[in-house]
Amino acid sequence: MADCDATAAGANLAMNRRANSMKSLVFAALAVATGAASCVAASPAPSPDLDPVFAGDVRTFTDASGLRVVLAAAPPNESVAARAFVGVYTPYGTDREVTPGLAHFSEHLYSNTPSGLDDHRYPDGMENFDSNAMTRPDYISVWSTVSADAAVQRALGRSGALWSRAAPDDLFARQQQRVIDELGRSIGSQSYAARRAVDHLFYANKPSFAVEVDNTRAFAAEEIDRHLDATYAPSTSVLVIAGEIDLDAVEADLRAKLDARPKRSRPTSAEVGAWVDAPRMRGEARTREVGSPDFEGVWFAAGFAAPPRASDDYIAMIVLDQLLLGGRGEYDELWNIERALDSPLGRRLATRLAISTLDDGRGYSSASPPLAEGDPAQFEIHFAVADGVLSDLDAALTAALAEVYAEDLTAEALNRAKLDLVDFYQRWLADASLRPLGDHLAGLAMHDAAGPARLATLHEDIESVTLSDVRSAMKRYLLNGDRRVAVARHDPTGVLPQP
Ligand SMILES: [Zn+2]
Repeated sequence: MADCDATAAGANLAMNRRANSMKSLVFAALAVATGAASCVAASPAPSPDLDPVFAGDVRTFTDASGLRVVLAAAPPNESVAARAFVGVYTPYGTDREVTPGLAHFSEHLYSNTPSGLDDHRYPDGMENFDSNAMTRPDYISVWSTVSADAAVQRALGRSGALWSRAAPDDLFARQQQRVIDELGRSIGSQSYAARRAVDHLFYANKPSFAVEVDNTRAFAAEEIDRHLDATYAPSTSVLVIAGEIDLDAVEADLRAKLDARPKRSRPTSAEVGAWVDAPRMRGEARTREVGSPDFEGVWFAAGFAAPPRASDDYIAMIVLDQLLLGGRGEYDELWNIERALDSPLGRRLATRLAISTLDDGRGYSSASPPLAEGDPAQFEIHFAVADGVLSDLDAALTAALAEVYAEDLTAEALNRAKLDLVDFYQRWLADASLRPLGDHLAGLAMHDAAGPARLATLHEDIESVTLSDVRSAMKRYLLNGDRRVAVARHDPTGVLPQP
């Protein structure tokens, strides 16, 4: 382990809340130069007393080009033939983009480059076209779930464009129109509009959909090419293969084939630094209202600055989230994981307001719960009401949170939350598509090569959270912390800003 890029130096970087993910990527590149590239980080032995949230073996290595690779052996799923998730991730999501729309458009060009679209087989039992890409605030992912025996071939195809992109002439124009069409559809989602409004209050680089459409229309091919060259490189990316695979065989095969690739000049540290150092912009405004004649009632969203990954409050907030909002039981779709109106916060809100929905604002566009997200993240509480004024809704939430703090943080509620959270993780990381597992492995590896091993001890970490931990995290971040509120409401007259 001593020569791994998952050494104490990497762990210490986790203390540095903002630049930590990129510093560890730069560190990975340095590790290559010092001959640490062949190192393997094995999972720590799980506790004999507690079932881990994910029981499979995980290993991480960095290839000669600086590509960080995470391999995980997942148990079989009875409804799907032997399958593997293959994903390529880069940390250049929307919170690092200089021009709003740049990250999303670049994702389309990367994921639709022909070298990424080799033939591959989907596993029996997964007839759907489960192959896609996503742009999030903290990373971009491009993934497929394929038959296990096609995993290495697919991984080479998906990562091939990190070395070279041979894009057809009409790809730029076609994807430009597709992104514009997607933005047009997104305008209709009221919950998404509320979430985007809160993002704007935190980061100030989330303009209206109309501005993002205009930006997307104005991008020049050279601008996108420059962005792709700087951000989609082996040394800035993580490749995940998780599934019913033989780790030794896949590693040997993959290493040999990656080694055979031509060397690619990596972006210089100056180029990477410019991206790393771009601050997540904190907006000045505390509240924001957006409206549309197509929306119904009011969708309220509150965002709280959440603890950084290295904080002692980090796991306590994840447990507190479960205690406050409840839910996360059986789900039909990954992007529709419901929280509970009869949770402690839901009940306290309902005594004040006729709320029809209580939500964490995450859907599946962000990992849920946020174990593997970039720092700093925001913690969100959303609810819908038929009518209301922003200041009254905000006051009702403040009062409801204070009541929960005073009366509902009991040992029984904490134990319930822990059980439900561990149960959720165990089901969710075993999802047939393996996408939650892949996203978690990549998100954790992006910040620290030893990060994926964190899944092995997550159950113990959750178990170790005390009532006092939960109380102090709630006080610091939800009662006294930095907080922004937004609503997306029905607006027949067009007075409010567009979402
Ligand atoms: Zn898209």
